[in-house]
Amino acid sequence: MNVTSCGGVMEYGRSCFIFDLAGRTLMVDCGISKSAETILERYPDFSKRDPAEVDAVFVTHAHEDHTLGLPFAVRLGLHAPVYASETTIRHTLTYFALWRHAAEQTGMTVPYEQSHEDRVDFVSLPSGKGDWQEMLPGVEVLWGLNGHAPGSCWYAFRDPVSLETVFFSGDYTMSSVLMPFEWPPALSPDLAVMDAAYGVCNTSQKECVNDVLDVVDATIARGKPVVFHAPLSGKGQDWLYLLNAFANEQGCRFETDPALLEETVALFASGEVRSTVLAETDRAAVEQCPVIGTGGSSREIMLISDEWLLKGAAFMDPGALVMTTGPVTPSLKKYVNDHRAELMKLPYHVHPVLDESRALMTHLQPLDTLFSHADPKTTASLEEVLIEQSASKKDR
Ligand SMILES: [Zn+2]
Repeated sequence: MNVTSCGGVMEYGRSCFIFDLAGRTLMVDCGISKSAETILERYPDFSKRDPAEVDAVFVTHAHEDHTLGLPFAVRLGLHAPVYASETTIRHTLTYFALWRHAAEQTGMTVPYEQSHEDRVDFVSLPSGKGDWQEMLPGVEVLWGLNGHAPGSCWYAFRDPVSLETVFFSGDYTMSSVLMPFEWPPALSPDLAVMDAAYGVCNTSQKECVNDVLDVVDATIARGKPVVFHAPLSGKGQDWLYLLNAFANEQGCRFETDPALLEETVALFASGEVRSTVLAETDRAAVEQCPVIGTGGSSREIMLISDEWLLKGAAFMDPGALVMTTGPVTPSLKKYVNDHRAELMKLPYHVHPVLDESRALMTHLQPLDTLFSHADPKTTASLEEVLIEQSASKKDR
C-alpha cells in the first residue's frame, strides 16, 4: 500500500494524501500550512502526484490545514467530486471566504482565483455512516465521527476483491466535551495514516479545562474582562459550552460571537453530540446564550472567532486579557496588536494524547503506519513509544 504525502508528514499542517486503490486514484484532504512563509511551503507539493489524475477527494474536516489547498488543486487541474459531511462543506466555504478576507487585510498572495474556489465540486457524503459503501466503482468507503470538529470524520477505504484497506484517522480526539469519537471496526488495515500532532503528550483534558477556567476566574476577580478567541469550528463549540456553563455557575456576564452560537446550536440540532451531555438542558442553556452587544459593555467574558473579527465591530473592552487555546490566526494577531492587548495561550486537546493514540493503534492493528501532522521530533517520539510497545508485546 503506497500513499504519497503532498504535505502533512514530518510537518504540522497542509495535510494532503494521494493513493491508488482498485485502479482508482483518491485524495484525502488538501490543506495549507497557515504559518508557512512562502507559497511553496504553504500549499501542497504536487510535484510527485498530479491532482488532475484524482478520481475522488475525501475531506476529513473543514479546518484550513485540510481544505484551503482545494482551490489551488482545481487551478492545477483537479476535476473530481470532493466528498465531505454537510457540516464540513458549510464550514469549508466559510473558511474559504475568511482566508480571502484575511489575505486582503494582510496583503498576503493567494495563488488561485475566486473562480477556482467556486469550481470545487463538493458532494455531501450519503447517509449510512458506519456501513461500507461503494462510493466509486470498485472502492468501498467507511467513515465515522472522530470528535475533532462538527462533522469531522475518519475514513477507511477498501478494495472489496483484494481486501486491501487503508485507514485515515484525520485530526481526532476522544476528549472533546461535546463531540463523540465513534470507534472504527478492528480493521487491521494495510496502512493507517494517524494524527500524531501531540506526540507523547499525555496530560488530561480535565487538567487543561481547569487551568483555563482558573485563569478566567482569577482575571475576572481582579476586575479585568476576558476576551476568549476560538476557531469557528471545533474548539469554538466546546468553549462556548464550557464558558457559558462557567458563567451561569459563577453568575458572571458572558456574551458570544453570533456565528459561533449559530454553529453550536446547529451541532446540538444535528444530534452529533455526546450522549453524556444532557442534550435537553444543555441545548436550552446554549440556545439562551447572549450574543455580543446585547449586554452593553458590562460583559466579563466575551467569546469571539475570526468571523466576528473580520465581519463584526472588533472592539475590545478596556483592560481585557485576550485568551486562546490556539491557533493564533493572522486576524487574532492583528486584533491583539491593534489593541496592544496581552495574549495568553493555554492548551486544550483537539488531537490525541498518548493514551488515545495507543488505544486506537492497539484496536486497529495496522500492518504499517504513517504518522502525520507533526514535526520530525514529535513524530519520532511517538513512533518510538508505540513501536517499542508493540515490539515488547511480541517478545512476551
Ligand atoms: Zn483540524
